[in-house]
Amino acid sequence: VFKALEFADKTSDTDYKKDTVIHNPQIIRDVVKISGFRFKIISNPDKETEEEENKDAVPAPPAPPEALKPRPPVVCVMGHVDHGKTTLLDSLRDTSVVDQEFGGITQHIGAFEVKLQSGDKVTFLDTPGHAAFSAMRSRGALATDIVVLVVAADDGVMEQTVESIRMAREARVPILVAINKIDKPGVNIERTMRSLAQHGIVCEALGGDVQAIPVSALKKQNLDTLVEALTLQAQLMDLKADPGGYVEGVVIEALLDPKTGKQATVLVQRGTLRRGSVIVAGTGWAKVRVLNTADGQTVQEAPPSTPVSVLGWRELPSAGDQVLEVASEKRANEVMKWRHSQRMKEKQVVDLEAIEAKEAEHNAQYQATLARKRAMGRFKLRRQGPREKMIQEDTHPTLNVFVKGDVDGSVEAILDILETYDEHDRVRLDLVNFGVGPVTPNDLEIAEAFNAVIYAFNVDCPTPLTVEAKKKNIPIKKHNIIYKLVDDVKEELSARIPVSQ
Ligand code: GDP
Repeated sequence: VFKALEFADKTSDTDYKKDTVIHNPQIIRDVVKISGFRFKIISNPDKETEEEENKDAVPAPPAPPEALKPRPPVVCVMGHVDHGKTTLLDSLRDTSVVDQEFGGITQHIGAFEVKLQSGDKVTFLDTPGHAAFSAMRSRGALATDIVVLVVAADDGVMEQTVESIRMAREARVPILVAINKIDKPGVNIERTMRSLAQHGIVCEALGGDVQAIPVSALKKQNLDTLVEALTLQAQLMDLKADPGGYVEGVVIEALLDPKTGKQATVLVQRGTLRRGSVIVAGTGWAKVRVLNTADGQTVQEAPPSTPVSVLGWRELPSAGDQVLEVASEKRANEVMKWRHSQRMKEKQVVDLEAIEAKEAEHNAQYQATLARKRAMGRFKLRRQGPREKMIQEDTHPTLNVFVKGDVDGSVEAILDILETYDEHDRVRLDLVNFGVGPVTPNDLEIAEAFNAVIYAFNVDCPTPLTVEAKKKNIPIKKHNIIYKLVDDVKEELSARIPVSQ
């Protein structure tokens, strides 16, 4: 590597050592070309970033052009319900069992390959419709090269046909039309093409550039022509990938098979997956033990565009996860550890943000109440002692509360919010007392006398008191987030709403 670096960087006298940061992208490209080595690009070469990036697996930079080899297209079948998507996939899958002698039996692994006499191949995603397409798209890894739009000639363009066209367009995936059910009597292929043209899909027969192949999925008519048309489209698109270097791919599906255990189908997009390769995907990882194709064959390797069912997972990934090969099992473990810790961090950040947002909302509400009261000249901090116990019979349902808090400010804030619930029309909220500091035996007595709920904000309640309170059926509710305390009060109020009302 250092030789290649010095060779590429003729213009400077940099002494390349292990930790030398290379800023010039041209040098990196040249070294990749000369040596075939891949580099990890560290966008911000400060130490912390470097350490962080070293812990996760990242895709390699683009391969040099001369490393690229043609690869089969990956095709997704879409179209209106009942137009024959499933039948088409079934028929294509049947034709994919080339070597019947070998005893291959097709099985659903989420994708399969069809091989032509010419040796050309096409990979079909085995789940028809929007869902498969969206799933492959949603994680940023669009695995589909071409959409086969199935339109039944007897039915023509329907709602989901139009929807499929829209989705393919948005994802900038070219469309090839399969006009299906041509075995049916009296079907009109040209009418179907004309209605497609109204939606911007102009077939070659009408002077456009979209290939349309009339087929019968049921009678297996013209399916070869359809597959040939797909390989032609693939050539036009110049689909290529580097079959060397570390594997990259996407998980098509993952499941726990009762017989074989953890099993996931990987569509290889770059590199060649082999037995013994170590791969990570999402929070799953595997040391590849067995590779099976959809026609039941066990293979030793899977080059780009090949879907293979992989055995050897320690942890199962999820469909849509990006697959990356790593150097060793040790490395895979490091990556897993890092990814799990990242997930935890993300969770914490989200929770904190939610809490802060809520607190801010309540604070704003509190400030507004304060301002309103100041304007009315009404505001004063209430410091009166406990009210006298009311002797009169009161039929109005009431919630009595006793607020204890850690500091004046928090108690004040809580009282202020509670005051806005004073005039609850069905249940009355009565504040029997409030104060600063931990819950005391005296507080318990008062709460008992008034049948009150004690709200302790950011303060302790000594264990013996908790025990006593339990015995006497005095609820003590501890909180350290104002909005949660207020929510709790609201719940208590709701619980006291008479059923008849
Ligand atoms: P999907 O909802 O698009 O997956 O449609 P299916 O593959 O389930 O097919 C719907 C119905 O159309 C089934 O009864 C199929 O047997 C029938 N069908 C599919 N393809 C053809 C075809 O080429 N010719 C005829 N006559 N019927 C077909």
